[in-house]
Amino acid sequence: MLWQGDLGNAENAIDRARSAWPKWASMALSARIETVRRFATKLKTQYEDLATLIARETGKPIWEARNEVENLLAKIDVAVKSFAERTSHRQLPSQPGLKTAIRHKPHGVLVVITPFNRPASIPIGHIIPALIAGNCVVFKPSERTPAVGQYLVDAFALAELPEGVVSICHGGAEIGQQLAAHEAIDGVLFTGSTRTGIYLNRLFADRPDKILVLEMGGNNPLVVWDTPDIHSAAVLIAQSAFSSTGQRCAAARRLIVRDTIYDRVLGEVRALADRLIINDPFSNPAPFMGPVIDNDSADGLTDSFLYLMTNGGRPIKHMSRPIPERPFLTPGIIDVTAMPKRPDVELFGPILQVIKVSEFEEAIHVANDTRYGLSSGLIGGTAEQYDQLWANSRAGVVNWNRATVGAVTQAPFGGIGLSGNFRPSGYYAADYCAHPVVSLEAEAPKAMIGIGLKDVGPG
Ligand code: NAD
Repeated sequence: MLWQGDLGNAENAIDRARSAWPKWASMALSARIETVRRFATKLKTQYEDLATLIARETGKPIWEARNEVENLLAKIDVAVKSFAERTSHRQLPSQPGLKTAIRHKPHGVLVVITPFNRPASIPIGHIIPALIAGNCVVFKPSERTPAVGQYLVDAFALAELPEGVVSICHGGAEIGQQLAAHEAIDGVLFTGSTRTGIYLNRLFADRPDKILVLEMGGNNPLVVWDTPDIHSAAVLIAQSAFSSTGQRCAAARRLIVRDTIYDRVLGEVRALADRLIINDPFSNPAPFMGPVIDNDSADGLTDSFLYLMTNGGRPIKHMSRPIPERPFLTPGIIDVTAMPKRPDVELFGPILQVIKVSEFEEAIHVANDTRYGLSSGLIGGTAEQYDQLWANSRAGVVNWNRATVGAVTQAPFGGIGLSGNFRPSGYYAADYCAHPVVSLEAEAPKAMIGIGLKDVGPG
């Protein structure tokens, strides 16, 4: 445990945010951007410190924690750019003397609720666009990564963000529920599991007056078709399924492989998975992956692997737990082709389910056989096959010959189905942090009714 303290008080945090909001919203945009830039500068000077804390609290390798800090800093630049490009003040060409102005206003007080797996970069991806647009934020980090959450909020204070503009509210589901249900908030920006997202969606069912952003989980397919480079295919598969110990929303969960190349592909993936180093974040040689977030997660994943095995799955590589009392897991690969009913759930860890198919149409059908829709991909195949997959794929990210993980910071990021509610984050986060106000403006009230008036008559 790297952080200890009291549970947050939702009432107080929201009060503080409400009091700070009018002043923050009426500040010049340039002043808000300057504050955000000061925050980025602070974090740059504390780069290694933050990366170390992320690695210690999540267990992810230090190189990966550094990547997260890089990603976070890049997100701040993108947020400034995307506000200007998507939600700044614009004028439409109009008649002489008349203007049509499109401006955007902030919502007010937004609650940001985030998961454990990228405890710094995911919150920043919501908080910074929200602040630039003129909102105040109450931030509830994951109860599994409170120290990183606190670190970010302390860095805001060091960057002299005015009191109350961002406040933290520590706690788990219960505090999240209190914040989300509070009358005085204007919306929730959420990233986390589909289960929690659906809870929030229900909570907001009769509140169309509040903004709700849901970035949720996935049961992501990766199709492998003909390719001369089986080794590269295996590398992309391992990166997609096992980087971050499989704790990535866009990780490949289901590998759909053509029967004719099945043995070669799986042989290579298995050999590669056997070589992946799994160890503590700072160990030498550098590990490919660390533990999953905690023992409960490791227990749940172990049970899931057993469930697949006892319900028609055929293990290709057993998932094991080398140290029983610690949450390290080795990558598990299991063929579920013969399973009569494959569970459509997200297994948030290093488990790859494999399905053998013979036709490309069948591959697309299996890929879409999910209620989720975050990422999908094709490795190998032809340009026509990629077009076909792209056109039919129900997902917000569709890649060709690239890993399913590793979002491009300058692009929008979000899913459909049970993966999101059509409010993508990343470059499009600006869109949900402000609402448009359209104004027709003329300097003088000059007007006439041209048609439909009775004549006044002579005299
Ligand atoms: P989680 O849903 O358990 O928790 C996420 C956050 O919600 C935490 O802060 C938690 O305290 C809070 N919470 C839990 N129940 C709540 C409730 N009833 N009301 C309000 N808040 C509540 O998710 P997790 O296990 O921390 O994270 C992993 C999940 O996040 C995976 O499903 C993963 O796919 C998803 N994720 C999605 C994206 C994306 O961009 N789509 C990115 C990263 C992670």
